[in-house]
Amino acid sequence: MKQSMTLIPTLREVPADAEVKSHQLLLRAGFIRQNSSGVYSFLPLGKKVLQKVEAIVREEMDEAGAVELLMPALQQAELWQESERWYSYGPELMRLKDRNEREFAMGPTHEEVITSLIRDEIKSYKRLPLTLYQIQTKFRDELRPRFGLLRGREFIMKDAYSFHANQESLDEAYQKLFIAYSNIFRRCGLNFRAVIADSGAMGGKDTHEFMVLSDVGEDTIAYSDASDYAANIEMAPVITNYEKPQTAEKELEKIETIGKKSIEDVSVYLNVEAKDCIKSLLFKVNDKHVLVLVRGDHEVNDIKLKNFFSASVVELAEPEETKQILGCSIGSLGPIAVSGNVEIIADHAVAAIVNGVCGANEEDYHYINVNPSRDFKEVKFTDLRFILEGDPSPDGNGTIQFAKGIEVGHVFKLGTRYSEAMDASILDENGRKQPMIMGCYGIGVSRTLAAVAEQFNDENGLAWPVNLAPYQVHVIPVNMKDQAQSGLAEELYASFRKQGYEVLMDDRQERPGVKFTDSDLIGIPVRITVGKKAADGIVEVKLRKTGEVHELSKSEIGAKLG
Ligand code: ATP
Ligand code: MG
Ligand code: MG
Ligand code: MG
Repeated sequence: MKQSMTLIPTLREVPADAEVKSHQLLLRAGFIRQNSSGVYSFLPLGKKVLQKVEAIVREEMDEAGAVELLMPALQQAELWQESERWYSYGPELMRLKDRNEREFAMGPTHEEVITSLIRDEIKSYKRLPLTLYQIQTKFRDELRPRFGLLRGREFIMKDAYSFHANQESLDEAYQKLFIAYSNIFRRCGLNFRAVIADSGAMGGKDTHEFMVLSDVGEDTIAYSDASDYAANIEMAPVITNYEKPQTAEKELEKIETIGKKSIEDVSVYLNVEAKDCIKSLLFKVNDKHVLVLVRGDHEVNDIKLKNFFSASVVELAEPEETKQILGCSIGSLGPIAVSGNVEIIADHAVAAIVNGVCGANEEDYHYINVNPSRDFKEVKFTDLRFILEGDPSPDGNGTIQFAKGIEVGHVFKLGTRYSEAMDASILDENGRKQPMIMGCYGIGVSRTLAAVAEQFNDENGLAWPVNLAPYQVHVIPVNMKDQAQSGLAEELYASFRKQGYEVLMDDRQERPGVKFTDSDLIGIPVRITVGKKAADGIVEVKLRKTGEVHELSKSEIGAKLG
């Protein structure tokens, strides 16, 4: 590709609203442009890298036995009503109406669509297992779209769904896709870990997230320094030492005064639908009282506390009083720091679940129509693990460390969550009707691209790994008006392309400084500068990553590139 013929609008200045490296550099190097908040165009270079990531994803998915299809992004409300997610998904779901006032959503994910498709097509166990995937644009009205492609409102996802007649078959597919995911992220050159995840709003049990270790990650993972153990701290409240630590048990002592004997007597509800990004734990004390632990950002006496637990024992109101919010004592648990980065609306803590209203200490931040068994799941208090940094790892090997992670992939054993709700069943070997057993598997394709940009850069710009680079070779004639230079550049351009390389040639009438600065920003692995020695057939070859420079004759280059 000749640079004069394409669109690579590089920027010298760091864009003001771009906080993280990948966002800054993808903008500056002309890979993406923002259209509206969280919505981006992929410019020609960005599109090329996206296609490389997609190609790796397709190869590994196909290898794992999955088959590609394409489903609609525009999804009718009826399907979401069947699964009941129309009511529980919250404001992240982009809803719209057609000219006949029929309701639709712009798909944030496709469990409903695929379950309805498969229930109509497959009726017998003999047609299973089946794993289908697509690569498609998804829409989520994120509370805080940010960090460029890392958290968009429109983004590209690879989503896969598997259907099974029995649990063993699901386990097998899950294992295969787990390996496929590991291969994909390894081939992208990423430093990642697979972590045990929270089953959250999807329902279901076994689930792992693939986390790229990065300081700009919005998740926190607890991992062992001596084994494969790693978990997203959303899995359990994870408490780190902070000054004089107290424990949740301390707060639970208050319960004694209102009639409970021990912690084990208290049922705990873990909220499964983190609506508006609030994470809370609800301890049912008795019919009149609940203890609420809320994790998030709080402000106490002008001190900003990030990711803290606040706790409060709250008296339940009568049904008529559901709008009334009862004493929520933010920060009452004292200085217990919680590691992690849970997004939360600062200062709007959930206070209590009051007969169907889960309240907050701020008007208009209540959840209405809360259904405890749907929105909260009951867990045994003893199942909750409060892990401290430096604690022994739960698997007995090593000690726990914390790190920030970018969630690039997520695999999930859904079980019958959707097949039961939407009546997707098969006849088994004995002719009995059974709900299909399902798994779902997502990769943030555009987020993966950004995660790679986040890991592969230096002070001069991006530095792509060879297999994801938009082009492998950047040919730069220093002076296009010099016949020897432009002639040799053209010759090399043609010959590399013939050898199967993707080549970008800077044929612009620009000053050399501009060309080199742009070239460093764009980050193509091999740069070939055609300058003064062109007449002797000599060029300079520079490796973007190491800065290593060689002067080579045109005949030597072929060997070097190989
Ligand atoms: P997050 O916790 O970051 O909000 P998620 O758990 O909501 O992500 P999933 O529903 O598991 O996301 O979707 C599958 C994959 O899609 C994620 O692992 C992630 O890589 C990607 N993804 C999710 N939301 C976004 C987004 N807003 N922008 C870009 N990629 C996203
Ligand atoms: Mg999300
Ligand atoms: Mg997540
Ligand atoms: Mg996820």
